[in-house]
Amino acid sequence: MFRCVCCLMGLMWASFCWSTDLTATEMKWLRAGWPVLQYAESQQLPIDIVVQPEARPGDVPFAMAVENDRCQLVLSMRGNPDAEATLANVPEEQVNLVIEAMTAHEVAHCWRYVHGVWHTIPAGFVERPFAAVQDSHIMQLEQKMRDTRREEGFADLVGLAWILREHPKQYATIYTWLEQIRKDQPVAGAHHDTRLWIQLARDRSIFVKGESPFEQASRVWTTGLRAEESK
Ligand SMILES: [Zn+2]
Repeated sequence: MFRCVCCLMGLMWASFCWSTDLTATEMKWLRAGWPVLQYAESQQLPIDIVVQPEARPGDVPFAMAVENDRCQLVLSMRGNPDAEATLANVPEEQVNLVIEAMTAHEVAHCWRYVHGVWHTIPAGFVERPFAAVQDSHIMQLEQKMRDTRREEGFADLVGLAWILREHPKQYATIYTWLEQIRKDQPVAGAHHDTRLWIQLARDRSIFVKGESPFEQASRVWTTGLRAEESK
């Protein structure tokens, strides 16, 4: 099913992978996200890069999956109109930065999986139980949406923390881009409605200096969880 699976084993595979027949779009994404992937490797995150030979309908062009306890950064860009659409409104000079932030977002998902905290809340955090509704199916869907929303919030914060760490002068630019793409939500509290967390990071000083982007994001994320619960 997958044409090319590359493990993050240092630069040797990269030259191999890039010299084979990756498309220009795939190369653009991998090159721009490369600093994040190198950092992920230094943090012992087990990430494989998987290139799909043909995207299936509805595939997200750039996504993190997990298989056999390893993370897979899956590129489903071939024949996928969403691949270019994602960057369509991004000014040329910001494209690489946006891809870098998106890569950090995906790596954050891997970090949560690998640390065994996917869909969990911090120890000691007490959450409000769901209001009882008659239809247990609806309750399950709401719970799933909440869990996804929280993971997306964490990952968005890591994206911002990464930009602050590597490109502090561009923080406001990427912040505005992220705020914009999260503005349109089908319903409040939808899967990608991370606005609560993004608002917290409007003032970049909320990220504690000297911590890793994951640690920085974790603190702000927990603050956001509290705010969500007290709504
Ligand atoms: Zn995500």
